Amino acid sequence: MSSIRSRQIQTASRSDVGRVRSANQDVCGAFENAEGYRLLVVADGMGGHKGGETASQLALETIGNVFDSDFGAAETLLGRAFRAANREIHRVGGSDPALHGMGTTGVAVLIGPSDQGWVAHVGDSRAYRLRDDHLDQLTEDHSWVYEQVRRGLMTAEEADEHPMKNVLLRSIGVGSDVDVSTSPIDLRPGDRYLLCSDGLWGELEDPVIAEVLAREPPANAVDELIDRANARGGRDNVTVLVAALIGADEAPARRSIWTPRTVVAAGLVTAMAIFWRLCA
Ligand code: CA
Repeated sequence: MSSIRSRQIQTASRSDVGRVRSANQDVCGAFENAEGYRLLVVADGMGGHKGGETASQLALETIGNVFDSDFGAAETLLGRAFRAANREIHRVGGSDPALHGMGTTGVAVLIGPSDQGWVAHVGDSRAYRLRDDHLDQLTEDHSWVYEQVRRGLMTAEEADEHPMKNVLLRSIGVGSDVDVSTSPIDLRPGDRYLLCSDGLWGELEDPVIAEVLAREPPANAVDELIDRANARGGRDNVTVLVAALIGADEAPARRSIWTPRTVVAAGLVTAMAIFWRLCA
């Protein structure tokens, strides 16, 4: 019987500005350590011209730093990392009037070297799992409309069109502390994990997402999902990260290009692109 240790994990990710917005306040990144843990993160910033970009970038950097240098117990890592990000964003936001009140969503999946993983989130960025062609949403949005749907006071279709659909009940960095939703997940060969911002799930229905994830390897799935969200209007920034747990009996996967160093490099390229766009 194969184990996670005997398999490779193939990941791909991209963040796209979409078709309407002039700046991208989403970020994504993947990290790995020598013990065989993988950390996948998507964050969607909010709060003014510079605040959103700053908040999501600080969240990614801080969560990555805790993973790299203060790993501790795996089952508590995501909660500690998210709360560290909250403190840092809140501190920076409090020291610069231009960044006051900034915040960000965050969703992360920690994939362990055995069959154990964890998912954590704050806000309305989501994690999904495709297993045996069935798509499960692993996170419940911390949003006002999602709460109404959960209580049976609104249908999902009504929520999609509601003027308050962007109102979040929790975000990282706005308050001095944050309540992080975390839960353990079991990992199986063949699982596909998708992390995304609302720019994806707000444009595409779950069956569309499931069909693409089942059909395409991660890099192709990321491109196709972003293309299809943009074809639907691309009203928001679209960020997609896909991880495939490759079984021993599956075709060899290309090694992930994402390391802490490439995450930093990608962040610099993104920052330069934003700077160029602002100056153009
Ligand atoms: Ca968004």
